[in-house]
Amino acid sequence: MQNENIQKLHNLIQSSKNIVVIGHKNPDGDAVGSCMAWGLFLKHLKHNVSVIMPNPYPEFLNWVPNQDQILIYSDDKENAQKAIKKADLIFTLDFNHLSRVGEELQKALDEVEKPFVMIDHHEQPDDYAEVCISHPEYGSTAELVFECIDLLNFTEKIDKDIASCLYLGIMTDTGSFKFSSTTARTHQIAAKLIDKGAVAHQIQQQTFDANSYSRLKLLGQAMQNLEYLEDLGVAYIHLSQKELDKYNFKKGDTEGFVNYGLSIKNVALAAIFKEDVQQNIVKISFRSKGNFDVNQLARHHFEGGGHKNAAGGKSELSLDATIKKFVSLLPDYKTQLHAAF
Ligand code: 5GP
Ligand code: MN
Repeated sequence: MQNENIQKLHNLIQSSKNIVVIGHKNPDGDAVGSCMAWGLFLKHLKHNVSVIMPNPYPEFLNWVPNQDQILIYSDDKENAQKAIKKADLIFTLDFNHLSRVGEELQKALDEVEKPFVMIDHHEQPDDYAEVCISHPEYGSTAELVFECIDLLNFTEKIDKDIASCLYLGIMTDTGSFKFSSTTARTHQIAAKLIDKGAVAHQIQQQTFDANSYSRLKLLGQAMQNLEYLEDLGVAYIHLSQKELDKYNFKKGDTEGFVNYGLSIKNVALAAIFKEDVQQNIVKISFRSKGNFDVNQLARHHFEGGGHKNAAGGKSELSLDATIKKFVSLLPDYKTQLHAAF
């Protein structure tokens, strides 16, 4: 990461009193971890800080330090809107386009005339931010947040809580230091965070060993529904609303399911299709190995995006029709799928 933006970032922080930090809708470990860490850091610099999430985060993040300070927009619009109106500076973390906060919160943000700063690792950032710290080569926004604090020469402000939040973000977005975006620097940063008080095994346990019985039964159903297209190197899972309801589906319950498809030896592309009757869509997650680009696939065919090896999207067709569409697209990708690794 270069420091071309750091002076500007420094000046903006210095000249702002009230600061808002916002993550994306359906926040994951990296969104919650990076926003909370950045918010706590700015508080240590004596700013008034509000951390806002568009909607609730999954239960497996219930241990995150200081989470009682997070404003959930969908639950407390009044206070969230107050904080946004009062803000001198707005940080948007872990997303690349304002639409990722949801329609209503996006409207509130569209009215803001104060500067925005983006800190993010998704491809193709939009241009709303005065300072845009966008690095798709990074495995997580949390790692970028660490780099920002480091370049601002403030690593002494990283306490146990900030370190734990950053460790969470890095750990979840690198698949526990497994994905190809994990570098020597990632490990060095993780080591520094452990030195600052993050207890790695505890964070792993609190985050990943937090299954409910019904979630494991849902995983069982997902595995029953796993389809494998051997000649293409593609695996996919589908879950209907009826199946989700049967196993008492809660937000975050299907997190990681898609990776089981990807764990089949010669699979280059895996997907999960989840029916959402309330929103009248099918929500899709894509994962890939090697050079197969699911960001492009999601962008071109499923109104989505993300990264080369992890992306998401949606479809307004029925669950069956969405899967048919997906399967019918695959022959065009056969060469790329076979050349992925
Ligand atoms: P997940 O499959 O875990 O929900 O998301 C994987 C990656 O794709 C994340 O980086 C996420 O931000 C991105 N992503 C997921 N769904 C969408 C979507 O509908 N639109 C866009 N642009 N990105 C998405
Ligand atoms: Mn992320």
